[in-house]
Amino acid sequence: MADSTRGAGIRLDGVSKHYPKSIALDNVSLDVKAGEFMTFLGPSGSGKTTTLNLIAGFTELTTGSVTIDGKLMDNVPVHKRELGIVFQHYALFPHLTVLDNVTFPLGRRRVPKAKAKELALAALATAGLKGYEDRFPKELSGGQQQRVALARALVFEPRVLLLDEPLGALDKKLREQLQLELRRVHQEVGRTFVFVTHDQEEALTLSDRIAVFNEGRIEQVGTAQDLYERPASRFVAEFIGESTVIENADNSTVTVVRPERGELYADENQVPAGQPAIRVHVRQAIYLGSGWKFEIVLPGGEVGVVRSNSQLNWLSGDNSTAVLSWNPALAPSLAA
Ligand code: ADP
Ligand code: MG
Repeated sequence: MADSTRGAGIRLDGVSKHYPKSIALDNVSLDVKAGEFMTFLGPSGSGKTTTLNLIAGFTELTTGSVTIDGKLMDNVPVHKRELGIVFQHYALFPHLTVLDNVTFPLGRRRVPKAKAKELALAALATAGLKGYEDRFPKELSGGQQQRVALARALVFEPRVLLLDEPLGALDKKLREQLQLELRRVHQEVGRTFVFVTHDQEEALTLSDRIAVFNEGRIEQVGTAQDLYERPASRFVAEFIGESTVIENADNSTVTVVRPERGELYADENQVPAGQPAIRVHVRQAIYLGSGWKFEIVLPGGEVGVVRSNSQLNWLSGDNSTAVLSWNPALAPSLAA
């Protein structure tokens, strides 16, 4: 990780946000480390933007506290928090050139003109926009406009950058390219990034750690590997990566089998001793280049997925029954 002294730590302590008719955020606590790339991941309406707005100071807390760099943010207004902010919709000034858009935050901070230009050119270079200084926003693509927004958020060297679905409006290919660039920028500038997305692949690609939001709460915080291999809840298991979820006989727990942990056999006799065996219907075999993916249907009708390096020649169109098994040590049991 980059030099963490350039980023600030953020602490949320028992933070709630109540609206007259709803609870947007319910008692959330979280530590974001200095210099970390932290992603808020969750479905629409789960409280991600509300949390970002509380950190920025755009929204008032109902309960709890926000601390940035060890300082309690009660009564600290937005502009005194010194945070760089990038939203999904770029909100550039259409009548200003790229350079003027990026120097704008420095003008407000009374940075001398020559110094401002120097900082803006450096921020534009970091954001991959060298040579675009004199263009107007309408002369740029969506991805380029978002780079300008990023440069503008970085230019005054804030210790924290807040990014709310900044790639959400871009097409998949451009989004993937900018994801890699954002990682590079994060490493280069060494600031704390708090990034919001509802896209789990994006979260896995970018983050040092991910906080998974669900209905105004954080279900789990961890590295991509923690969340994938040791999900704390069924929600996390189903939201991150693919899985087959099997209802256990006790009715109060489920077993989560990741695609690469599941094995398909022609019959029960082939299943290693001591491993579970469930008869399933194989609905589809999909060739992925790197291997095969089998879509399976469990006895209760639930759909699951198994990956394999081989084609499983014994499967045939007419008789697509197989036995699903797995190593129990590698498949967590979770509350149903
Ligand atoms: P996300 O960013 O994860 O999609 P939000 O944080 O925007 O979710 O919203 C969380 C919940 O709070 C939603 O149910 C939303 O309707 C509600 N909410 C957000 N802002 C307001 C507001 N200004 N007034 C009332 N309810 C709101
Ligand atoms: Mg949102």
